[in-house]
Amino acid sequence: MLFERIFKIDSNIQSFLTLDEENAFKKAKEIDKKVANHESVGLLAGIPIAVKDNICTKDLTTTCASKILKTFIPPYDAFVVKRLKEEDSIIIGKTNLDEFAMGSSTENSSYKITRNPYNQNFVPGGSSGGSSAAVSADLAFMALGSETGGSIRQPAALCGVVGLKPTYGRVSRFGLVAFSSSLDQIGPITKDVSDAALLLSVIAGKDKNDTTCADINVPDYLNGIGGGVKGIKIGIPREYFAEGLDADVRTAVDNSLKIYERLGAKLVEVSLPHTEYAVAVYYIVANAEASSNLSRFDGVRYGFRANNIKGIDEMYCRSRSEGFGNEVKRRVMLGNYALSSGYYEAYYLKASKVRNLIKKDFDTVFEKVDCIVCPTSPVPAFKIAERIDNPLEMYLSDIYTIPANLSGIPSISIPCGFSKEGLPIGLQILTNYFEEAKMLQIAYSFE
Ligand code: GLN
Repeated sequence: MLFERIFKIDSNIQSFLTLDEENAFKKAKEIDKKVANHESVGLLAGIPIAVKDNICTKDLTTTCASKILKTFIPPYDAFVVKRLKEEDSIIIGKTNLDEFAMGSSTENSSYKITRNPYNQNFVPGGSSGGSSAAVSADLAFMALGSETGGSIRQPAALCGVVGLKPTYGRVSRFGLVAFSSSLDQIGPITKDVSDAALLLSVIAGKDKNDTTCADINVPDYLNGIGGGVKGIKIGIPREYFAEGLDADVRTAVDNSLKIYERLGAKLVEVSLPHTEYAVAVYYIVANAEASSNLSRFDGVRYGFRANNIKGIDEMYCRSRSEGFGNEVKRRVMLGNYALSSGYYEAYYLKASKVRNLIKKDFDTVFEKVDCIVCPTSPVPAFKIAERIDNPLEMYLSDIYTIPANLSGIPSISIPCGFSKEGLPIGLQILTNYFEEAKMLQIAYSFE
């Protein structure tokens, strides 16, 4: 039934890159058998899940939506995929993304353009646009996405679903194809907050294969989710309600704040003074790390190698020139520049220092409030092709999401209304490190 629906609807939405019908049916039968034999089943038994195609799945192609990995079949599962399987979920396929997760619209995929299920002339956001569109169009019950600068929350907002970026270190990155290692995190994209809580409970926790993954107990995130917001202090960051914020988004967020007040929360105006530098800092740090991480795609070990090559230099050069798309090349060049000798101090080092100031802004604010509430994206979904030739404008899509990645705190986007054109709007809630339980409770009380 579900696959029939996918075949019918996804010919328009284009959220999947690979479907794994055969294994999905095999797994479903296994679970049926367990149930018939009264054996215990996992927390996600029988739930169809879609996985972003930059997360490694054993024996199932993982392309990162890049030509360079067109034929790459991982010999192992990412930690999170292993966890999904252990809890008996059914992985139905791999979803589209901006190549190597670089983008905010899923238009940078080398394979297809995913469309927003609410209006197919509009982008689903990115880079986890395939996962968000699949959940939004009821083609998967849940999905995994990845974030470096907003790639779970922004597409979730634009597609009217829930997207959660965990604290850096809450979820193992083992098996996530690295973009920017100090920023990357995997997280849930779901229909509602309790599903996000359930999925996070499954994928979070220590993993010996990722040394940045914290050895901190994973609470049952569903437990206590209904605790409400009475007496909770919500910080409203002045800098997030400034120029560039769409009027419909502003109205939806203002209305949401009123709902929180009615539910018993206290609103407090706060300031995050270094917000204006976040996008600039991000594009230095993320590109620098990406240029280093992507150096492994050289035509030797993974995927694509150019034909008719004479010598090793030509192999590197042509495999990468032909294998990578334009946005990836732009980022590798910018990143190499920022790291090159003589420029390192001026760019990367400076950016790292400002990153610390951004982090300190949050530390100060969380001494006074329980959470921060603000828009997820300054605008609702934009039209396909509208921003693709203007990278700077595209980069500004992440202005409200990037600070959480730079500082490492958790954040969730939940649907909070619609624009006049009928496109979804997302509300963002941020809490201090490892306070996902509190964040989910605040998000849940809004639903
Ligand atoms: N849109 C941002 C970028 O292009 C963030 C991407 C992400 O979070 N993976 O880098």
